[in-house]
Amino acid sequence: MEKGSLLYEGKAKKVYAAEDPELLIVSYKDDATAFNGLKRGTIEGKGVINNRMSNILMRFLAKEGIPTHFVRELGDRDTLVKRVRIIPLEVIVRTIAAGSFAKRYGVEEGIVFDSPTVEFSYKNDALGDPLLNESHALALGLASREEIETIGKLSLRINDLLKAFWLERGVTLVDFKLEFGRLPDGSVILADEISPDTCRLWDSGTGKKLDKDRFRRDLGGVEEAYREIMDRLGRTADTEQNAPADGVC
Ligand code: 5GP
Repeated sequence: MEKGSLLYEGKAKKVYAAEDPELLIVSYKDDATAFNGLKRGTIEGKGVINNRMSNILMRFLAKEGIPTHFVRELGDRDTLVKRVRIIPLEVIVRTIAAGSFAKRYGVEEGIVFDSPTVEFSYKNDALGDPLLNESHALALGLASREEIETIGKLSLRINDLLKAFWLERGVTLVDFKLEFGRLPDGSVILADEISPDTCRLWDSGTGKKLDKDRFRRDLGGVEEAYREIMDRLGRTADTEQNAPADGVC
């Protein structure tokens, strides 16, 4: 499928028009940024891995009844998705203390919560994606009460599904960030990506970090970690990657 005009270029992806105006083509790059663009680099092969991993996980979630934007993988880096209006909320679900949570509340990384936390940030680079609560999101008109409720429920369900999925592959899902979008009919679906860029993934046995924290924290072995986490997805997933996403909304 031919890419149309470039509509948007973000830190890790380019978005192109597709022939069908209700669809878009997302193209994953190897560029990596952290700390709101202050740290920049390249992770060789990341675009291919994030594209494939995100598609495998979106297909898995769709089969479990989660509405997603995934339509079809077009190539190593390119995927056809439903066009949505992105809701400017970053939804972060945590099972284990790490990253900004550990820093903000002065706790050690690795503390396992009794139940998961869900938090929202205002998706706004100029402001540094500030944390906000539901009443702030309503006051700013970012989403309706119903949408926030739907997003909260879907996010917790996605956490349950992905935690179990990764555990079977010897990986602990520590936390992750989701984004949602609105279809023209107003329904809310999962959009963006699910990848080592957007999740913390630790080896269940050793605790080794298999995600973008290796880049953020200069831990070394970045490319190897991305390849290792991709290997954990296993060959069964490979055979499914190009099938259309049955059951997406
Ligand atoms: P933290 O708030 O601890 O930095 O991040 C929590 C989780 O959300 C991590 O898995 C992290 O990868 C993801 N996350 C939070 N904000 C962003 C963001 O702006 N971009 C990306 N790619 N991931 C984010």
